[in-house]
Amino acid sequence: MDQVAIITGGSRGIGRATALAAAARGYKVVVGYASNKAAADEVVAKIESSNGKAIAVKCDVGSEADILDLFKQADAFGPLGVLVNNAGVVDMTARVDEMSAERLHRMMNVNIVGSILCAREAVKRLSTKHGGKGGVIINLSSVAATLGSPAQYVDYAASKGAIDTFTLGLAREVAGEGIRVAAIRPGLIDTDIHASGGEPDRAHRLAHNVPMKRVGQAEEIANAVVWLMSDEASYVTGTILDVSGGR
Ligand code: NAP
Repeated sequence: MDQVAIITGGSRGIGRATALAAAARGYKVVVGYASNKAAADEVVAKIESSNGKAIAVKCDVGSEADILDLFKQADAFGPLGVLVNNAGVVDMTARVDEMSAERLHRMMNVNIVGSILCAREAVKRLSTKHGGKGGVIINLSSVAATLGSPAQYVDYAASKGAIDTFTLGLAREVAGEGIRVAAIRPGLIDTDIHASGGEPDRAHRLAHNVPMKRVGQAEEIANAVVWLMSDEASYVTGTILDVSGGR
């Protein structure tokens, strides 16, 4: 397969697992990262050690210039087939009455605007309307979109609610142009993101609330992402898939 899959935030966590799973299925992978070049390089080296193809590209999805450069470098690597809008951030646990405007702008800029700008660039390349051959866009939402995350990070949950709505709208907008768009709502997944919210042990602390009584692994999300990417999901669009152990 000569198709390129761009994974934003592919250096760690769910994005890393998705990059490895996509490479194992034959995609040429563009591993986006915000600042952790060593982690991105490790993912590329791991893919190459299995005879796969990958490049690491620094791209803070909060920057339109970085996004344009990401797609430019991807274009030079091969024809785009898939975008995984995985990059996302949380912030420290807080109530809404404690949140600064700066925090809210960062959260919405990275989680919502970044995803929509990346999708814009993907649609320009994939849509049959623009001479493309079609493709797939997968957005990483969260079960937080359905729970609201009170007294933790309502702003994050709201940003993921926006991702759900964006997924539905974009899917219907480009369904006749060869592009499928879907989202995954992970539950509590064992990654570094909980440390970014000031609580490294958060996922394990809350595991007893999960009907399956355990946290999920990044690979369990990646498996769902690569299925949605594949032709096995050829009639799936506008779908938001919960991968959350029943949460
Ligand atoms: P993570 O372990 O914190 O990894 C975040 C990844 O995103 C890293 O590769 C990081 O790059 C990159 N990143 C951070 N800020 C970025 C930015 N501004 N621009 C571009 N890349 C950026 O996160 P994760 O847990 O794998 O989460 C991945 C996605 O799943 C997110 O959208 C998250 O909201 C969603 N999700 C996660 C969970 C969970 O429990 N883990 C649950 C529901 C939804 P560097 O390595 O360079 O820092």
